Amino acid sequence: MSTAVVVGSGPNGLAAAVRLAQAGIDVTVVEAYDRPGGGTRTSELTVPGVLHDECAAFHPTGVASPYLASLGLERHGLRWLWPEIDLAHPLDDGRAGLAGRDPALTVQSLGADAAGWNRMFGAAVRNFDDLIAEVFQPMTHLPRHPITLGRFGLQAVLPATLAVRRFADDPAKALFMGVAAHAFNRLDGPLSSSVGTMLAAAAHAVGWPVAEGGTEAITRALLATLSELGGKVITGTRVTSLEMLRDLIGERPDVVILDTAPAGALEIVGDRLPGRVRRGLTRYTYGPAAFKVDFAIEGDIPWRNEDCRRAGTLHLGGSAEQVARIEAGTVRGEMADQPFVLLGQQYLFDPSRSSGNTNPIYAYAHVPHGYSGDATEAIIGQVERFAPGFRDRIIATSTRSPAEFEAYNANYVGGDISAGANTMRQILLRPRLAADPYSLGVPGVYLCSAATPPGAGVHGMGGFNAAQAALARLV
Ligand SMILES: Cc1cc2nc3c(=O)[nH]c(=O)nc-3n(C[C@H](O)[C@H](O)[C@H](O)COP(=O)(O)OP(=O)(O)OC[C@H]3O[C@@H](n4cnc5c(N)ncnc54)[C@H](O)[C@@H]3O)c2cc1C
Repeated sequence: MSTAVVVGSGPNGLAAAVRLAQAGIDVTVVEAYDRPGGGTRTSELTVPGVLHDECAAFHPTGVASPYLASLGLERHGLRWLWPEIDLAHPLDDGRAGLAGRDPALTVQSLGADAAGWNRMFGAAVRNFDDLIAEVFQPMTHLPRHPITLGRFGLQAVLPATLAVRRFADDPAKALFMGVAAHAFNRLDGPLSSSVGTMLAAAAHAVGWPVAEGGTEAITRALLATLSELGGKVITGTRVTSLEMLRDLIGERPDVVILDTAPAGALEIVGDRLPGRVRRGLTRYTYGPAAFKVDFAIEGDIPWRNEDCRRAGTLHLGGSAEQVARIEAGTVRGEMADQPFVLLGQQYLFDPSRSSGNTNPIYAYAHVPHGYSGDATEAIIGQVERFAPGFRDRIIATSTRSPAEFEAYNANYVGGDISAGANTMRQILLRPRLAADPYSLGVPGVYLCSAATPPGAGVHGMGGFNAAQAALARLV
């Protein structure tokens, strides 16, 4: 029987492990933290009984992932729950742009811009499964749906600041800019619409659901699947070399898949990396960081805009111009007084996360790479801007700075929760220019983390694709 070790137990690592185990390989997953899950853990961070998603919270890529869907994770308790309104972007004048599976919401909130919005995303929404099949693979593949991919490409290539010019009014402009800001990059460069186009189309096609009981339900379901297939998990063990793996499983594994950032791969594989691979991984760049605050609050957030009280995800950053300006400054290393904040109200659609009338609120700000200050007040300020009185409802907080993110998970270099900057080069060729981006150029050794295609997000597709590459060469 062939043996494999997967280093790291994020969704990509676990997906890789499950795929290898499905092929009859004896798989061991080795995780540095004391609990598996990577970016998919849920904990009582503030008050007993109140559940907070430590990292990922909303799962458009999870519910759209062909590989996760093929596993039937519902058998192991995974249940997606959809917000009434998937996404809201409030403005200072009390209006808000809304997006979600119900088209009436978008029409109502965007008014005259609704038709333009539909033209922008209609084709991607209608052909969403085909589009996913294309973009969840490396860019170097031969497309099976060239027309769908081509239409998406024409929209994705635009700078977001240019894409919003087709809209007349602020709600539509800001709504798109907020989604585009998920790229954690400047929004005035080529391809800065790509992440936003994908996520906006997903909001309409499949929604931005949460996992019942918290994102950790995804980890639990993947672990149960792996265990059924005979896979094992070792926690509390940070891997620093390939030699360590031989000691851990008692023999040299036939396959090693690293769910690590390129920085981790450089450390673990070291001098064995061929020069071109080493140079590619050394050149790989990391982007801005997140500063996260989890709140326990009494009751609900008193949003000025009523629709925001029914939304799962909220983007707090004001107008499209403000968001684009803030993001550009963040990339340059400037901390904004009013940073872009992503806020989650998962509990509204999943009451199992609350304790009585004490509810969890999830929020993080985009901050410069390695930012060493405290963004808590700036985050509270942004919520107060659109929901005066929020501060008075706070019972407890738990914060995680960029340095604490990196200590928690080595893949978040400098607090970069995307495991690598979404520059034009790294959107197209992640982590480096190569026919097989998963191969590390050492026989049997692969990379599968969010630093590989299709990039950040809970979808397991990097893991699946890397495992497929490994299996193809194992015979
Ligand atoms: C604050 C935050 C919010 C996010 N929000 C969302 C969201 O709403 N929706 C979404 O889809 N995505 C979101 N993401 C991104 C998502 O969590 C990640 O893209 C995803 O988890 C990446 O999966 P992965 O398997 O590549 O790596 P990770 O989930 O990062 O897991 C990597 C694992 O490898 C382990 N590891 C690393 N190096 C070593 C080593 N040397 N030895 C042993 N173990 C090692 C780490 O400890 C970690 O457990 C968010 C992330 C963060 C941090």
